[in-house]
Amino acid sequence: MARPDPIPAYDDNYIWLLRDGPSTLVVDPGDAAPVIARLGSAPPTAILVTHHHWDHIDGLPELHARWPAVPIFAPEDPRIPIATRRVSDGDAVEVGPWHFEVIAVPGHTQTLIAYHGEGLVFCGDSMFSLGCGRLFEGTPAQMLASLDHLATLPGDTLLCCTHEYTAANGRFALTVEPGNAALQDRVAEVAELRAHDAPSLPSTIASERACNPFLRIDSPEILQSLARHLGHAPQDRVEAFASLRSWKDTFR
Ligand code: ZN
Ligand code: FE
Repeated sequence: MARPDPIPAYDDNYIWLLRDGPSTLVVDPGDAAPVIARLGSAPPTAILVTHHHWDHIDGLPELHARWPAVPIFAPEDPRIPIATRRVSDGDAVEVGPWHFEVIAVPGHTQTLIAYHGEGLVFCGDSMFSLGCGRLFEGTPAQMLASLDHLATLPGDTLLCCTHEYTAANGRFALTVEPGNAALQDRVAEVAELRAHDAPSLPSTIASERACNPFLRIDSPEILQSLARHLGHAPQDRVEAFASLRSWKDTFR
């Protein structure tokens, strides 16, 4: 199975790099310099973009000027000015030896897409390890549906999200579900990795199903925590998700 490489960028971003022989794929180049440092003079086979935020697209002008023939796949969104092919939910992306399917995962932004295939998913800022993106544009119901969809991918799918937020997410996750043994193990593993400056990613969908509170709003322990936090039991899954997300927004 293909094992992608996270290239650190800015404070806590990762630009994903996938290689197979002479083929390379770059995902969410928020900065051109670390990509060029890694690739040198060899152009990538293609560039994939998940959403319009600057930390995911600001490398595009320089990369496109340097390698104008390299295809750039992106969602339909005028806030992503540079793309050679616009894709949306259900579209197939064939690049080099790889095949991906586009999945719409709105919530963090309205037009965010994930690319799923080859045993991995490039999901931008929709799902993080032990967390999820902030709701800048979408509704809680949209984000919940997006996360529910990602959670149905095969358990061994590698989760290639774009920020190193796992340790901070883990502190919140343990606050809402302290009795989750799989979560305790994952938090310990992440502490060990981060102590050696190693990435906590990629994660797997199976690990997230076992540990990520935003995929676990049906857990009795999380529902109890939410009831204590809210002063009443959430009425449904959307309220449970919305209150968990807004709790996390103010959590220190
Ligand atoms: Zn973002
Ligand atoms: Fe981001």
